[in-house]
Amino acid sequence: MKRLVILGGGESGVGTALLGKAKGYEVFLSDKGKIKEIYRDVLKNNEIEFEDAQHTESKILNADIVMKSPGIPDKVEIVKKIRSNGIQVVSEIEFASKYTDATIVGITGSNGKTTTASLTYHILKQELEVGLSGNIGKSFAQQILEFDYPNYVLEISSFQLDDIVDFKPHIAVLLNITPDHLDRYDYKFENYINSKFRIAMNQTKDDYLIYDADDEVINEWLKNHKIQSTLLPFSLVKTIENGAYLDNDNIKITIDNNQIIMPTANLALEGKHNVKNQMAASTVAHLLKIRKQTIRESLENFQGVEHRLEHVLKINKVQYINDSKATNVNATYYALESMDTPTVWIVGGVDKGNDYKELFPFVNEKVKAIICLGVDNEKLIGTFGNMVDVIVETQFMTEAVKIAYKIAEAGDTVLLSPACASFDLFENYEDRGRQFKDAVRNL
Ligand code: ADP
Repeated sequence: MKRLVILGGGESGVGTALLGKAKGYEVFLSDKGKIKEIYRDVLKNNEIEFEDAQHTESKILNADIVMKSPGIPDKVEIVKKIRSNGIQVVSEIEFASKYTDATIVGITGSNGKTTTASLTYHILKQELEVGLSGNIGKSFAQQILEFDYPNYVLEISSFQLDDIVDFKPHIAVLLNITPDHLDRYDYKFENYINSKFRIAMNQTKDDYLIYDADDEVINEWLKNHKIQSTLLPFSLVKTIENGAYLDNDNIKITIDNNQIIMPTANLALEGKHNVKNQMAASTVAHLLKIRKQTIRESLENFQGVEHRLEHVLKINKVQYINDSKATNVNATYYALESMDTPTVWIVGGVDKGNDYKELFPFVNEKVKAIICLGVDNEKLIGTFGNMVDVIVETQFMTEAVKIAYKIAEAGDTVLLSPACASFDLFENYEDRGRQFKDAVRNL
């Protein structure tokens, strides 16, 4: 019996444990931290041996294969030891994909993964049997075990890609690459870029890579590296023969001379970044031969994803928008870019070394007041203090929303788009977004 050791007892670890056990492995799961009650129960009920708050080397270094959960960095001691013992380390998608013959759509990028994966799933499920997994909802491993769909849309992080060996999506989507998570990549942007491109590393010419042809980082990489995949770029500014582009107010997508045309006026998701996301999702759907009418309708009736430019309420003709998921400058860039009214901007949190320069034009043009919502707001005040008439700070969401309510006038927008992580004042971005929505509803 082969021994599978799993590091990390979260969603992907526990899912892998279940799948591994079903496939005949002797399974041991180890977590250096505390494993959540719900996951402990699953492990116990399925008689899977596990430990937490420690790593017992004698039970780990005898593995035939190790699944390392995406949250665990390479630099931790136990991972180094595993590798120096020559034991293969894989990620969950690598392990799980061995047990399915499904057609896989793999979606990665620095921003827009969840939005695009959810939208792609929304279109495909109108006509295909399809599962949505990866970083969304139930782990891919558990999904395969419970019901193996013939098609999957997977949201894939760079951490999952770091430890693939044979994993190959038939259709890969690379939305964009901007610096993120550099602490996990020796602070080298180049390493992070390479990691993202691993999504295409096992593809052949029969597979597809859909990517943003306006993204200089992506273009530069493609110039300097050989890639087998059939390329289907999308662009907002260039005409694209094979792929998707914007022709005045229409999205045009051409694959093998078969073109679909969609007016942008009817799209459910607003903002230029979302035009790109919608191009990417529609290209996938067009490739998988979803009917044109179905694609058009799905783009019109998509409900959006919580915490991503989510329209909460209109009060006294002021629109409140929750973009709590904007945890970096690039995401906030697109939020501000899509504002077409004067904006009261709620921003702040844990700054991951942000450079706010690219936001300056939008702030000058559209932002009438800034509400800093973080433990340490000094950098924001120093950066934007001279740019707007009003800049205030608070440590409470309810107060931030009340101040915004006082400042905003009919026709304005109140936008929560923090450009920062949430851990200083909130449990996570979901908590931050929910507190915002609750505060707005209580106005
Ligand atoms: P991810 O899953 O990659 O974190 P999300 O879909 O959750 O991406 O969106 C994260 C944030 O980025 C949101 O604030 C969203 O409005 C913004 N965003 C969505 N798509 C894009 C894009 N293509 N480029 C830049 N920002 C985007």
